[in-house]
Amino acid sequence: MTAFRTLSDMKPKGKRVLVRVDLNVPVKDGVVSEETRIARSAETIRELMNKGARVIVASHFGRPKGGPDTANSLKQIIPTLEKHLGRRVVFASDCVGPQAEKFSAALRDGEVMLLENTRFHPEEEKNDPKFAAALAKLADLYVNDAFSAAHRAHASTEGVARLLPSYAGRAMEAELKALESVLGAPKRPVVAIVGGAKVSTKIAVLEHLVEKVDTLVIGGGMANTFLAAQGLNVGKSLQEADQHATALKILSVAKDKGCRVLLPVDGIAAKEFKANAQSRTVAMSAVAADEMVLDIGPRSFGEIKLALGSAKTVVWNGPVGAFELPPFGEASFAIAREIAELTKAGRLVSVAGGGDTLAALDAAGVDGDLTYVSTAGGAFLEWLEGKKLPGVEALKR
Ligand code: AMP
Repeated sequence: MTAFRTLSDMKPKGKRVLVRVDLNVPVKDGVVSEETRIARSAETIRELMNKGARVIVASHFGRPKGGPDTANSLKQIIPTLEKHLGRRVVFASDCVGPQAEKFSAALRDGEVMLLENTRFHPEEEKNDPKFAAALAKLADLYVNDAFSAAHRAHASTEGVARLLPSYAGRAMEAELKALESVLGAPKRPVVAIVGGAKVSTKIAVLEHLVEKVDTLVIGGGMANTFLAAQGLNVGKSLQEADQHATALKILSVAKDKGCRVLLPVDGIAAKEFKANAQSRTVAMSAVAADEMVLDIGPRSFGEIKLALGSAKTVVWNGPVGAFELPPFGEASFAIAREIAELTKAGRLVSVAGGGDTLAALDAAGVDGDLTYVSTAGGAFLEWLEGKKLPGVEALKR
C-alpha cells in the first residue's frame, strides 16, 4: 500500500477534488434498486466534504451508445446519492465543458457536485488525452475510488490520474488492502476455491492461482472438464471437451509448483437441469451416462472443510454447483457458512468476489461475515488473473 497515496496523505480543504466513483447501480423504473456501490462511494465523498473539499463526483453509468440518453443519465441516482451524503448535490448536465467549469469554480468548501455520465463522450473509453485534460481542468486533485472500473484504461480512470496529483479513495484502499492480503503477502496456507460453469472463462485465473496458492479447490461445471480430461465418464454433465488439454496443463503446472489441487470425488447428480429434479449422491467414478453432476457431494465438501480448517487465507470465486436450482446450491452455501464461521472465529482471512459468489453468500445469509467481499466483477477477475490494472497502476508513484 505504500505505493499509493490515500486520503490520509491529502490536504483537501478549499481544493477542488475530482472523485471517480462507480455509481453504475441497477435502476428500475427510475429508482435505484441496489445501493451498495453508492453507499461505498459515499464514505469517501463524505470524508472529503467533512474535510472542507469542494467535491466533484464523476462516474460512468450503463452502456450509452456514443451520446447522451435519459436511460443512462446519472440524474436518476441523485436522490439516492443525496440520501447517503445527507446533503444536496449540484448536477452538471455534461461532465466537461463550460457549465461544468462554471459550477466547479462556484463550489464552496464542503459542497458536492455530480457530473453527468462520463461515457456520454466516446473519448472516455478511448482514453483520449484532450478529454482527460478537460476533466482535469475541473479540479486541483484527483481521487480514484472505483476499483471496479480500474481494469479499464479510460480517461476518467487512467488518463486524468496522469494529469493531477492522485490518491486512492477509501473504497479503493480497502479493496487493494484486501487483495494484497490474499495474494500479495498472505498468511499461509492459502486456499483458493474456483467454481463456475466453464474452464474456458477462467483459464488465466486458474493458471495464476496455481502459482500463488497452496491448495486450489476446483468445483462447479469446470470440475467436470478436469475430471473428463483425466478419463472419467461425467455422463451428460456440463463440460468442455475442447479444454481437456488446458485442464491437464494446469494440473501439471500445479504439480510442478507444489500446489495441491482438490477435485470433487463425489457429486449430486440428476437427469434434468431443473429445480428440485430428482437427484442422488454419486462417486465421480460412477456417474451414469444419462446423469449430470450439478453439485459437489458430501465427501468433497468434507475435504474442502478440512483444507479450510488448516488454512489461514481463502479466496473464493464461483459457485461449486448450479446454486440457483435447489437443492444444487447446498455445497456452495455450506462452504459460505464454513468460511464465515472460521472468519468470525479469527482463524481465516477471507475474500470473495464475483456476482454468483456474492449471490451464494447472500443466499447463505453470511455476506457480512467475510473479511472482504468484492463487488468489482471484471476488475476482481482480472486481478485474480494477476493482471496489472491500469487505473491502479496510474495511482502508483
Ligand atoms: P460463472 O459465471 O462461470 O462463475 O458460472 C456460474 C454458473 O455456473 C452458475 O450459474 C451455476 O449455475 C453454474 N454451475 C456451477 N456448477 C455447475 C454444474 N455442475 N453444472 C452446470 N452449471 C453449473
